[in-house]
Amino acid sequence: RGPVLLCQYHNNSPGAACSCVCRSDSGCCFLTVFLLSYILILKHLHLAVLLSHPQAVVNDGVRAMMESALTARDRVGVQDFVLLENHTSEVAFIENLRKRFKENLIYTYIGSVLVSVNPYKDLEIYTKQHMERYRGVNFYEVSPHIYAISDNAYRSMRTERRDQCILISGESGAGKTEASKKVLQYYAVTCPASGHVETVKDRLLQSNPVLEAFGNAKTLRNDNSSRFGKYMDIQFDFKGAPVGGHIINYLLEKSRVVHQSHGERNFHIFYQLIEGGEEDLLRRLGLERTPQQYQYLVKGQCPKVSSINDRNEWKVVRKALTVIGFSDDEVEELLNIIASVLHLGNVQFGGEDGGNAYITTDTQIKYLARLLNVDGSVLREALTHKKIIAKGEELMSPLNQEQAGAARDALSKAVYGRTFTWLVNKINASLAFKVSLYYHISNMAGSFELQFCINYCNEKLQQLFIELTLKSEQEEYEAEGITWEPVQYFNNKIICDLVEEKFKGIISILDEECLRPGDASDLTFLEKLEKTLGGHAHFVTHKLADGKTRKMMGREDFRMIHYAGEVNYNVNGFLDKNNDLLFRNLKEVMCLSENKILTQCFDREELTDKKRPETAATQFKNSLAKLMEILMSKEPSYVRCIKPNDAKQAGRFDEVLIRHQVKYLGLMENLRVRRAGFAYRRRYEIFLQRYKSLCPDTWPSWDGRLVDGVSTLVKHLGYKPEEYKLGRSKIFIRFPKTLFATEDALET
Ligand code: ATP
Ligand code: MG
Repeated sequence: RGPVLLCQYHNNSPGAACSCVCRSDSGCCFLTVFLLSYILILKHLHLAVLLSHPQAVVNDGVRAMMESALTARDRVGVQDFVLLENHTSEVAFIENLRKRFKENLIYTYIGSVLVSVNPYKDLEIYTKQHMERYRGVNFYEVSPHIYAISDNAYRSMRTERRDQCILISGESGAGKTEASKKVLQYYAVTCPASGHVETVKDRLLQSNPVLEAFGNAKTLRNDNSSRFGKYMDIQFDFKGAPVGGHIINYLLEKSRVVHQSHGERNFHIFYQLIEGGEEDLLRRLGLERTPQQYQYLVKGQCPKVSSINDRNEWKVVRKALTVIGFSDDEVEELLNIIASVLHLGNVQFGGEDGGNAYITTDTQIKYLARLLNVDGSVLREALTHKKIIAKGEELMSPLNQEQAGAARDALSKAVYGRTFTWLVNKINASLAFKVSLYYHISNMAGSFELQFCINYCNEKLQQLFIELTLKSEQEEYEAEGITWEPVQYFNNKIICDLVEEKFKGIISILDEECLRPGDASDLTFLEKLEKTLGGHAHFVTHKLADGKTRKMMGREDFRMIHYAGEVNYNVNGFLDKNNDLLFRNLKEVMCLSENKILTQCFDREELTDKKRPETAATQFKNSLAKLMEILMSKEPSYVRCIKPNDAKQAGRFDEVLIRHQVKYLGLMENLRVRRAGFAYRRRYEIFLQRYKSLCPDTWPSWDGRLVDGVSTLVKHLGYKPEEYKLGRSKIFIRFPKTLFATEDALET
């Protein structure tokens, strides 16, 4: 009964995170001792990531063991930063990364943390043979790899009774999505299978191209950037075979549907359909094979991308839809909607100089009426009017040209956004596992409407990192009475509070302005922020305390000092994006649609629901809180992805860019505490239970105090005093080597 959870967050700046989580609450006692020992050790390596001990050293035995199994090529630099001679030197750290990167060794450990540098080229390291090499093999016996992390997580799920999680982080283009796909592929190939399982494996794998087609886009930073949040659950049966799954999506970057910055594109699916769609399909949809013709596809002036073959991708996506279980009718309805969005984008309005808007493009309305299965004249009216209710009466108030354009864009965003959610639900239905009594694994990934949300999310993930490692680690030492040197770290809780605190956090103030009738605007929101938060150590506006103006700062901006750096936010559009409102009459038209997907996306009950919907920021805050709760209950391991250059080029190692990432990913700090910590800890009763057979004085049962039993046992095993410490209820073991040896003894 153990879910493994994969998650990925999209992020532009300043730091991104993606995570993969594994969980288990059922021990598999039939597994071999070897596997169990392997898991135990690794599991606790994760916990040891961030703690400090003054006398920490890597002894020669560990070094020899770690290096013995490696080939000459693997030995370029060190494969674990813990082995660096000068472990406090950032220069040495980056030099090691560089040396290995030049040899295509993109993975390096910091203890059990995997550091990965995006190679920007296909490496021959993801073959079936590679997968086999990592299957059930000890962490240190093979060179660092994402498969080692995956294998460890999977086996932890099966053999340990505790939840596991792998957090993958890095900036946009650093390789988070690719890493999470490698994890999925590893499971698909190495996990045991049976009849039904093959279908589930295929569907799980095929959900990726579909979700990427609808949720990824070309940005300046990444040709395949994830623009939505995703959380995926994979369920395993008692044999460890995947038998089901579940995905949750978070805030899709809907604004991309109607606008793209220069050099960026809309979501891939639009270009795939236009480039790859069969002739008669396009004819039915009323589409031409020229993306330049569609307003929503040309804002970024970049309809073609050299690294992307839209035509081939179309074939892949079309096939994937079938594998996942979409019927031909459903695919048709889905494509009707995608085509409708393109037609909507081409709906133009006359009525310049403040006059009432009228539609100048009739063909589009005709196509829309047919594809969306709605009445053309109703749609026409809804696009140019706003329904207001005054004194209990409904009135249609005409919109001007600009307002009509905004209403049209709001409709396109709503249609696309809701269809995306429908798509995810549909995939979920196809992945739903049919039999009870099954294990289960989970996965998440994401990007969000607002840069602000992305950075807030990163702050929360950093909080999680602190809570799960630094804080809890040090609290555990304290509770156990183990002497330790506290690690100095910046606790970013103060920044999370700045965003989410009740009444005086930025989100509360934003919601308050959104709900306030009258003159509320983006600027009054900024004023309120200044009034409430002026003087906060992590919040800055152009106003200085002495009434003067801060140079280099816009009057519509506020700046947040995030843990990973400073970011300016322009308040323009904050209120609108937070309200995310669609005019009521446009909603009504959609509710009347007979397109089977839209009838599920636009529920008629919404029209009678008097309750104001939650704002976008509050929804996001709540879903993040839920996510954090899930993640907090897992045991984490980490993959830190690094982007080697901004040119998306193979072989280029941009030192300035990399140094920045090493800094904000906290890798030096990570290394410092990793060298200092205890790799393994176990409650006395469990330790004794497992190893008592190795010592005549403790076998078959120990009568005295548990701590004395463990003490007798480890002395008998020849543990040296510097290798372990005894706490109040647990034994702490510094090096994996010590425990490996004990496990070996158990096997012989
Ligand atoms: P975003 O936050 O924008 O979604 P990301 O961290 O998910 O970014 P990816 O999409 O995973 O970034 O990676 C960007 C590109 O880098 C990939 O499309 C691929 O070309 C290349 N890449 C990443 N990882 C690898 C790898 N292990 N091997 C080869 N190429 C890779
Ligand atoms: Mg991604």
